[in-house]
Amino acid sequence: MDNKLQRTKIINIIHNDNTRSKETSEILENKLREYGYAISYEFDHNAELSICIGGDGAFLRAVHKHDFPYIPFVGVNTGHLGFFHEVNPDNINKFVENYSKGNYNIEDIYLVETIVCTRASCIELIGVNEIVIKGIESKVIHLNVSIDDNHLECFSGDGLIISTPSGSTAYNLSAGGSIVYPTLKTLQLTPLCPINSKAYRSLQNSAIIPDGMSIKINPEYRDENSILIIIDGKQFKYDNVVEITFKLSDMTLRKLTFHSQNFWSKVRDKFI
Ligand code: NAP
Repeated sequence: MDNKLQRTKIINIIHNDNTRSKETSEILENKLREYGYAISYEFDHNAELSICIGGDGAFLRAVHKHDFPYIPFVGVNTGHLGFFHEVNPDNINKFVENYSKGNYNIEDIYLVETIVCTRASCIELIGVNEIVIKGIESKVIHLNVSIDDNHLECFSGDGLIISTPSGSTAYNLSAGGSIVYPTLKTLQLTPLCPINSKAYRSLQNSAIIPDGMSIKINPEYRDENSILIIIDGKQFKYDNVVEITFKLSDMTLRKLTFHSQNFWSKVRDKFI
């Protein structure tokens, strides 16, 4: 018999430390074994699927830890909100049955890529939800913003959020940004407490930037050492930051979706 046909299919299970997540992972493991899958709790790069049990925060940490894997993932929500998650712990049997029959689609999750240049070097970083530029110690920061090298504004305020479509329902939404349908290839630039006075003029609302255009931020000289970069909740600090550029990444994450689910119903159920 062909060895390939005999090979057991591997599924990664990643869970956070909360009791419900641990219990759910045991139930899931047993069910998947019944259907002939092998389970790995270490991230196996030969797996055909990664299942992340927890909330959105646990999902974001897993994606960063495993360096944005190409293996598709699905989330089982034992967290608070679980916007990325498609499966409820009460529906494990149905999920495994649908998965084994191939009753699912794979959706791309667009990522935001930034290149942060200091006077010494440049570094590339990637975000799933958003990249936030803020001032240290709650200082007002002054940022020159350009889109495709066209100067747009000199922003003054708490900072700017550069959000992906999937991240539009996270920090971006709380800051007054719009919800963007996840298949639209766009970035959203959302101000955080923009100042509008006789001293400073900043755009008050979000701007939606299409794929293929880049956003460039040049901090004013006095702010080069006051910049914080926060990627999906994790903070980075660099000295002498002179330029930060953003674009949609060529890389995507791949997420399972099931036929019964609809993005706008999810928005209603989670936010209204
Ligand atoms: P966190 O506690 O892990 O997350 C804060 C809340 O945001 C949680 O309820 C989380 O859901 C939810 N969330 C995460 N991604 C989401 C998405 N794409 N759509 C809708 N809700 C989402 O906080 P953290 O570790 O500081 O940062 C993680 C994320 O939190 C960031 O990427 C940022 O978007 C968001 N955040 C929001 C605010 C705000 O709204 N004022 C401030 C800071 C950060 P779960 O409960 O399922 O984990």
